[in-house]
Amino acid sequence: MVLLREYRGKEILRKFGVPVPPGKVVRSGEEAAKALAAGEVPVPCVVKAQVLAGGRGKAGFVKLVNTAPEAVQAVEGMVGKEFKGETVREVLLTTKADIARELYLSITLDRSSRKPLLMASAQGGMEIEALPAEKLLKLPIHPLTGLVAYEKRAVSKAFDLPPAAAKDLDRIMDSLWAIFEKEDAELVEINPLALVGDRLLALDAKVILEDDAMFRHTDFQQEHGELSPLEQKAHDKGIAFVEIGGDIGVLANGAGLTMATLDVLYQEGGRPGIFLDLGGTDDPKKVVEAFLMMTEAKPKVVFINIFGGVTRCDTVATGLVEALKQAKPDFPLVARIRGNNEKEGVQILRAAGIGSYTDLAEAARNVVALEQGKSIAPPPAAAVAAGGAP
Ligand code: GDP
Ligand code: MN
Repeated sequence: MVLLREYRGKEILRKFGVPVPPGKVVRSGEEAAKALAAGEVPVPCVVKAQVLAGGRGKAGFVKLVNTAPEAVQAVEGMVGKEFKGETVREVLLTTKADIARELYLSITLDRSSRKPLLMASAQGGMEIEALPAEKLLKLPIHPLTGLVAYEKRAVSKAFDLPPAAAKDLDRIMDSLWAIFEKEDAELVEINPLALVGDRLLALDAKVILEDDAMFRHTDFQQEHGELSPLEQKAHDKGIAFVEIGGDIGVLANGAGLTMATLDVLYQEGGRPGIFLDLGGTDDPKKVVEAFLMMTEAKPKVVFINIFGGVTRCDTVATGLVEALKQAKPDFPLVARIRGNNEKEGVQILRAAGIGSYTDLAEAARNVVALEQGKSIAPPPAAAVAAGGAP
């Protein structure tokens, strides 16, 4: 998935005719001062950190300001700060709207019904997860007909808008569907869709494009330019590698297990910062490459959490041991390897001096202890290798 930052999402909304307040992206207080002095953005205005995670409003990463100096100060307060693991590099200055009501509108792909799903709520602004189910209208869309008139009427009824805004809404829903279909989106979300006077304005945009369709959207390829040098290198080699600025390296297989591993590490108070998804690879060469990449990212400790399914534990373990010989990591490793051919896998790791835990929480606690510079007890009947040495 390719998640776009707000301002890029808004570019798409604009292109498809959705009313969006004008704005300007800046990267420093100085740039902000220039833009404001040139009248590119009038005050009062809204200062918004361009990060991928939501919930900026509550965390002070969306600020309403009345004067240019306040705007500059707000920009300076955001640039370089971290929000949910991402450093703020870009800030959007945008016209302030006088909001009468905040609505929610989105189209997403509902994988369980295998259909696009339109979601609407007259109580927008807050995150969708926080909405009570009865306040959220969900309409499955037939992919061949697209949004049809009676579905749009249902939303219009729920929103109960003045006539001019109701007309806007009708066009906005058509635009959302067009974006979803033509731009190969997985999600197009406007939250809030604001009632300003008697018209509607999209004040926020969240657009996720489908990875496998990116070849059709070369104008968004440059998104990859936002990858870190290591991420770029991994991307070129077809390795799923993400850096977000913590100290723990995570090497797992499959997106689900990788995410679960991150959750457990966070729960134990750790700061996972580099993830590498081995996917279904059983090619030791690929594991070596992945491990070398991890070494370059210089983590404090690496947690290897592997589930042996189609790719069996022993195959992965063999690849890992081979990789360690070549990569010679200078950080401690904690492993947890479970599933098909687990015994064989654990034995191979042990022979190389890497102890393997069975319990995920226990393993994670030890990883976090190592991250914090504490020493740990070795896992039952084996030792955790430091420096790759047995
Ligand atoms: P998010 O919290 O990351 O989803 O960021 P949003 O872009 O949705 O902004 C959060 C909240 O800031 C919105 O729900 C609004 O209440 C408020 N906000 C954003 N833009 C404006 C604006 O132009 N005028 C006013 N009054 N409030 C705004
Ligand atoms: Mn929002």
